[in-house]
Amino acid sequence: MGLENRDALTLLRAGVRGPEADALIGRVFTCWFALDPEVRDLFPADMSDQRETFRRVLDWLLSEFIARNADEPVAFLAQLGRDHRKYGATKAHYETLAHSLFATLSAEFENVWTDAVDETARAVINLIAGVMLGAADADRGPDWWDGTVVEHHRVSRDLAVVRLILDRPMDYHPGQYVNVQVPQLPRRWRYLSPAVPPDPDGRIEFHVRAVSGGLVSNAVVAETRAGDRWRLSSPHGALEVDRAGEDVLMVAGSTGLAPLRSIIMDMCRFGQNPRVHLFFGARYPCELYDLQTLWEIAATNPWLSVTPVSQYKISPPWAVDYPDPTPPRGLHVRQTGLLPEVVTSYGSWADRQILVAGSRSMIAATRAALVAKGAPADSIQCDPV
Ligand SMILES: Cc1cc2nc3c(=O)[nH]c(=O)nc-3n(C[C@H](O)[C@H](O)[C@H](O)COP(=O)(O)OP(=O)(O)OC[C@H]3O[C@@H](n4cnc5c(N)ncnc54)[C@H](O)[C@@H]3O)c2cc1C
Repeated sequence: MGLENRDALTLLRAGVRGPEADALIGRVFTCWFALDPEVRDLFPADMSDQRETFRRVLDWLLSEFIARNADEPVAFLAQLGRDHRKYGATKAHYETLAHSLFATLSAEFENVWTDAVDETARAVINLIAGVMLGAADADRGPDWWDGTVVEHHRVSRDLAVVRLILDRPMDYHPGQYVNVQVPQLPRRWRYLSPAVPPDPDGRIEFHVRAVSGGLVSNAVVAETRAGDRWRLSSPHGALEVDRAGEDVLMVAGSTGLAPLRSIIMDMCRFGQNPRVHLFFGARYPCELYDLQTLWEIAATNPWLSVTPVSQYKISPPWAVDYPDPTPPRGLHVRQTGLLPEVVTSYGSWADRQILVAGSRSMIAATRAALVAKGAPADSIQCDPV
């Protein structure tokens, strides 16, 4: 029965849900580090994020198997396996992890560990390790890309534009994102979206917003210096514009601009494009940090129009040293309000390809507002958050 055994899958899933789940995952890692001490060095000192991510992934995979869905889990595991090459994950690491997971689960469910549960647990664990390892082995690209920071531009109190030159160019699709490790916080990988299309000389640019209490984002905004060495994973994500398709609505919240800007810059290579209307929103006018570039693109590309949106009408007193936030002539007049409300006040956008990028809450609110206005849910693209 293996992966077909819904009862056994449901039992295993119960282990990664509920109040004891974090402790169970903690025991998996403890067992793994004991079996394979060198693995410990691949992780940060505080493992709480890693435990929660691992728990959520297991929960999601088991739920998909219970629902008899295998395609998405396999595609996800393959991507995860390719991505884990950046940690230096080896076949031996996968084997000891598989052993630790099996040993912990069988001890946890000792009283109900029948042959059928044993078979299902082995099938799930073998699938996870097998797909990840197989995909990692099959990928011929580099395990990671290193690059040197050449410019750190603090465009606002909480925002920085960081430019790097990679040791070797990375081939990604405009709109994709990468996992990034900065020297200030080794092993704390965070996703960032390149704000420019791929460059044959390896030049790449990121826009980073410091979130309140955020470890990595604050380090990047406040402490990054020219000469810092960053490490980047292989690219992920599938945001894209179908240039033969409908006109396009883009909604960018703060540094959510980065992937959409990269797509727009890439579209500039073509004379003919669908019309693109970009709403670019931030809390304060001074945080609309990239209007000058957007204006320059819109000035020479008539298919692009840009509406700046700020939640508050005026910038705070600390913004006095930052550039004048008045939109250049040629962009639409700046609107005041929350992005979801401003965007949907223009209509339903039901006939557009829609791309939304920004924080988790901004994406959820914009998506809900657009669907409520009549935009088909499947016309809205956003990255997984
Ligand atoms: C696909 C993808 C692409 C991304 N691209 C970019 C990008 O181009 N530029 C960029 O600045 N960020 C981007 N992010 C967000 C980034 O990966 C980090 O989550 C963010 O910088 C916070 O990391 P941190 O270490 O500072 O915060 P953490 O220490 O991980 O978290 C601290 C606190 O901040 C909260 N938090 C985490 N992320 C956010 C967020 N985005 N908004 C508000 N609160 C948050 C957490 O819930 C927690 O309470 C992207 C995220 C995803 C999933």
